[in-house]
Amino acid sequence: MQPSGVFAVLVAAGRGERLGDDRPKAFARLGELPLLAEPLRRLDENGWVDGVVVVCPPGWEEPSILLAEQLGASKVSACVPGGATRADSVRLGLEEVPGEAAVVLVHDAARPLLPAEVVDRLLEALGQGFDGAVPGLPVVDTVKRLADGVVAETLDRDALVAVQTPQAFVASVLRAAFAASDDVSRATDCAQLVEAAGGRVTVVAGDERLRKVTTAADLERVAGLLGG
Ligand code: C5P
Repeated sequence: MQPSGVFAVLVAAGRGERLGDDRPKAFARLGELPLLAEPLRRLDENGWVDGVVVVCPPGWEEPSILLAEQLGASKVSACVPGGATRADSVRLGLEEVPGEAAVVLVHDAARPLLPAEVVDRLLEALGQGFDGAVPGLPVVDTVKRLADGVVAETLDRDALVAVQTPQAFVASVLRAAFAASDDVSRATDCAQLVEAAGGRVTVVAGDERLRKVTTAADLERVAGLLGG
């Protein structure tokens, strides 16, 4: 399958309470601009991406559209308010992706430093016939599963990856996975819905720069990496 008709769904509707800001995380300041500006600009400038759907915090539609205009992000095709959970927000964004899209890239605005080469790797994997591809990093810590506060099991970390976004999917497969799930809201990434529906998802090399912004210290780290 040729990676043509690639649409990005950029989910930015989280409240970001751990940032301790009075505005949603996507509008926390990163230098001169809101955090949302960086991932939006990078997706808009990516040569593979044909269109971007922004899922913004409810009530922040107008500032989001104005931001896209300010950035000259001409590929933004829709801006919709998000839902109660990340997966609900993705579902609402997916509804705005045109039917002819072949591939959907779902990306967290909270991971602003999107390297173009990660998108290349994801689309290459779809070209090899996978239903989905996600970036992942090796797990360096030992990971334990707890049951009632007691360690029940130590997992084999060599078999684990820490998964990031963007995640790329054959559009029809992603839509079918959302339609098939009776518990979309609790999914913490899209790949798990595709996996549950029987789709084949592969992992490509992730990137440290894609670490999620959760705290004020993370924002400072990202600003430092941007030279801001
Ligand atoms: O909350 P978490 O850090 O997992 O959020 C990951 C991404 O999902 C963020 O970019 C956030 O804005 C988005 N999100 C959303 N709607 C929600 C919750 C999170 O779009 N209800």
